[in-house]
Amino acid sequence: MPALEQKLKEVFGYDTFRPHQREIAESFLAGRDTLAILPTGAGKSLCYQLPALVRDGLTVVVSPLIALMKDQVDQLTASGVAATFLNSTLDSAEARKRFAKLYAGEYRLLYLAPERLMLPEFLPKLAEWGMKALAVDEAHCISEWGHDFRPEYRRLREVRERFPGLPLLALTATATPRVQEDIRTQLELRDPEIFLASFNRPNLNYRVIPKSKAAAQVVQFVRERSDEAGIVYAQSRRMAESLAAALCEAGIKAAPYHAGLEAEERSRNQEKFLRDDLQVICATIAFGMGINKPNVRYVIHADLPKNVESYYQETGRAGRDGLPSDCLLLYSRGDVVKYLRFFEEITDLQARREARVQLEKMTHFAEDERCRRVSLLGYFGEDWTEENCGACDQCLAPREKWDATMDVQKLLSCVLRLRQKSGFSTGLQYAVEVLTGGKSEKILRWGHETVSTYGVGQEHPRAYWVDLGRQLLRLGLLEASEDKFATVSVTERGVEVLRAREKVALTRPMVKPREDTAGPKKRRARSGEVACDEGLFEVLRKLRAELARSRNVPPYVVFSDATLRHMARAYPRDEMALLQIPGVGERKLSDYGQVFLAAIGGWLSTKPRQQFAGG
Ligand code: ADP
Ligand code: ZN
Repeated sequence: MPALEQKLKEVFGYDTFRPHQREIAESFLAGRDTLAILPTGAGKSLCYQLPALVRDGLTVVVSPLIALMKDQVDQLTASGVAATFLNSTLDSAEARKRFAKLYAGEYRLLYLAPERLMLPEFLPKLAEWGMKALAVDEAHCISEWGHDFRPEYRRLREVRERFPGLPLLALTATATPRVQEDIRTQLELRDPEIFLASFNRPNLNYRVIPKSKAAAQVVQFVRERSDEAGIVYAQSRRMAESLAAALCEAGIKAAPYHAGLEAEERSRNQEKFLRDDLQVICATIAFGMGINKPNVRYVIHADLPKNVESYYQETGRAGRDGLPSDCLLLYSRGDVVKYLRFFEEITDLQARREARVQLEKMTHFAEDERCRRVSLLGYFGEDWTEENCGACDQCLAPREKWDATMDVQKLLSCVLRLRQKSGFSTGLQYAVEVLTGGKSEKILRWGHETVSTYGVGQEHPRAYWVDLGRQLLRLGLLEASEDKFATVSVTERGVEVLRAREKVALTRPMVKPREDTAGPKKRRARSGEVACDEGLFEVLRKLRAELARSRNVPPYVVFSDATLRHMARAYPRDEMALLQIPGVGERKLSDYGQVFLAAIGGWLSTKPRQQFAGG
């Protein structure tokens, strides 16, 4: 068995590589500079951890946050890997102990923050400690275009100068090409092998529903998922607070997380969440990085995110362990209007325009009638062609299409006529007012009650026409000006449609929340699903929580949810069988094997064994 594969099984307990893992590990091991761009949950850590176990000497890993480093080291230690980190939180006795072991060559992996790596006295030490390779995690931190710019990352190239032959592996989950290019040039990667995976997250289910009473909607959604962990994102501290309060009131263990809380309270809430002592965190965007929790089962956006990138990043925190997880967006036009008002205060015109464009893309995503994957991945330039993804609201319950030709004609010609009459364009709301025969002072002043389309749309309420107008904006038959007046005009394409009386099919607006078609009750196999004995899974989960508490680590350090589900499916009765379970390596077998076997045996002494279809 090739060395990498052997370590994969022996140490981490996995039989097969995830896509790209083997190739990335091989490239890095062969001494090549390598750039790995893989979505969250793809298993980037193993790409440098496995080579570190196979090659001689020390692999140094640059990581931006103390919490992340500690988490990784805890997980490695639990798998029997000699790994450590150095940072300012260590007392001097502990630091000395680690230094001594580094000099003795006892560690395979050393995690460091970049500012520490760059201390003048540090680089020579790395040579003495036998550094043989460098992995740069969260490499997008090097880019100003990214979402977490860390200037210290810029100095990593100095390591290259000092250790010219050192192979470097840069890893990121950032999908933006601009950032990817920046990583490449800033790190001065030499003829790197580049691995770019699809950004699709097959185990995530996407859903958008109209926001009505956010707190009640959130509470209902969470209630349907008893015991499962989730993150609720809100745009304001107040909203985060009130959602957390509403959840607590409903008997759910929830807490807020935002920049207005004392640092201590924030980290306490985060820690509790990691340890499954809190079920839900209601966070502003300040929460996210540094969260490695693999069993986040859902992410709710109670407010509209400002751009698609944030939405992708934030929803991406669900389901890192590959099990099915849900992303719910509560959408309201009111949020859009609120943002537009905020944007008025941006003085830099270029920045203001950029913010608007970003927001518009986000709005389009929410209002789009296509598969959520098609629009989400399309935003990052990925061409997703699968007919029906089976895991988004649009594919599971397609919205009704209807022939809107007549009404499209009415609205487009109304916009054209207004412009012809007055020589200037108006906003959509105003055009709709004219179309529905409004009698406002403005209409009379400008004489718009005399245009031929005045009042021809009275059979529908205004909201109907506004929604129709927005669909036309999205389809490119109308366009809005970029200034704050957002006046609409008919595009060339729109004029063509109008002239040729082309048929236009539109989708019904989202008026009421559709049925929870993708909720937990639906018995349709979902990507990543591991059907198992839920009763036994609960028992194993409790056991895991106790073990984790006694060892003072988060539960997922003991075993992942996926591993427990596999156990509750295969009912292993001896060590050989337990070793077949994904995620059970040799160290964990010897540490935890007996307790888990006893629990499974105990369960089977009173309960029947269930059968599960498929692999
Ligand atoms: P990323 O850093 O890309 O977000 P992680 O390295 O945190 O992903 O891995 C995500 C999860 O997938 C972890 O729980 C990890 O144990 C698991 N995992 C990684 N590689 C494999 C594999 N080959 N088979 C099964 N599970 C894996
Ligand atoms: Zn879909």
